[in-house]
Amino acid sequence: MDRTLEGRTALITGSTSGIGHGIAMLMAHAGAKVMLNGFGKPEEIAAARASVGSAMGGGDAPYSGADISKPDEVRAMVADAQARLGSLDILVNNAGIQYVSPIEEFPDAKWDAIIAINMSSNFHAIKAALPAMRARNWGRIINIASAHGLRASPHKAAYVTAKHGVVGLTKVVALEVATTPITSNAICPGFVRTPLAEAQVGPLAKEHGVSEEVALRDYLLEKQPSKRWVEVDDIAHMAVFLCGPGSGGINGIAFSADGGWTAS
Ligand code: NAD
Repeated sequence: MDRTLEGRTALITGSTSGIGHGIAMLMAHAGAKVMLNGFGKPEEIAAARASVGSAMGGGDAPYSGADISKPDEVRAMVADAQARLGSLDILVNNAGIQYVSPIEEFPDAKWDAIIAINMSSNFHAIKAALPAMRARNWGRIINIASAHGLRASPHKAAYVTAKHGVVGLTKVVALEVATTPITSNAICPGFVRTPLAEAQVGPLAKEHGVSEEVALRDYLLEKQPSKRWVEVDDIAHMAVFLCGPGSGGINGIAFSADGGWTAS
């Protein structure tokens, strides 16, 4: 892999699993020093730190256990990243959760948690990271939104609201940094093969009385014309590209990687 991110530093939220871990691995292989964040069993966190550390050339990757639903912890995590990495060039707001329910039964606590984790954390992290990016005159902000940042689906009130908000925030930040060498972009994946998405297959199979294979094709991927998962690596390569050479003019865009979902 080309070392296009040599000398860069990156903080990736929710990088103990799924898309975030994939981005961390690829950024490390591309030469960046990466700090991880996210939950998990101690052995899962240790494995994530070891794998990304090894991609960085040895040792464990630095890690913050911040709960990003809490603004104070987000601010402390950004400060910690700046201190431990020596700078923070790249911020990837990736951590997210999902909850699916008709709006009349949607628990208030789930709404609050999804808005806090999937959307407000991006605001708090960007606000905390931008001053040092401006001072160093370089920066990359990447928000992992979703096809649900551009399209709605029933029963996902909080998630769709939060992801539309993330796309809006991405554009506002892009305009505010437009005259500087900092960029702000979003990636909008369709269904990606990760624990968060795979967990939705079982309940759909049960609800419709079909096998998991049929539930995946006919219900979960109903709107994804490719009828197959987007892979973590597809998203990771896009994130690395947005930080590498030739990315300076790309600002305020919501990039779709959704198997054709938003083409219609
Ligand atoms: P995942 O469940 O595999 O990983 C989510 C990560 O976020 C984990 O590391 C988890 O520990 C972390 N996290 C959750 N709550 C947190 C909190 N309060 N504080 C800190 N970390 C927290 O999920 P994923 O599928 O890799 O999703 C990553 C992002 O991609 C999410 O924002 C999700 O909405 C988005 N996305 C996923 C898909 C998909 O199909 N998988 C599609 C579109 C968008």
